[in-house]
Amino acid sequence: MADLITYAQIADRWHLWQEYADPGANMTEEEFDGMTIKARVEAITYMFGQEFYIAECRRCDRETTVDSPEMTWPQLECPACEESHSDWDVRSGN
Ligand SMILES: [Zn+2]
Repeated sequence: MADLITYAQIADRWHLWQEYADPGANMTEEEFDGMTIKARVEAITYMFGQEFYIAECRRCDRETTVDSPEMTWPQLECPACEESHSDWDVRSGN
């Protein structure tokens, strides 16, 4: 899960913002600093859509969507296994 970058992380760090949200460098660091994190997350959501993640059950390969990677920890119920567990591969859906 370490390679997952959330909207909140992008909104919090200028270098991530440059890489993921604004590769065309339309915004200056001063403008970035002038925005609240909430406003930055809203801007990212406007650009890429509502944040979501795809969690794949390692036990049955069934996929389900979650709003944040943290929702699989410590446990998420698999609709197929009908059991709550922490064996998930999570990737960004955006
Ligand atoms: Zn399952």
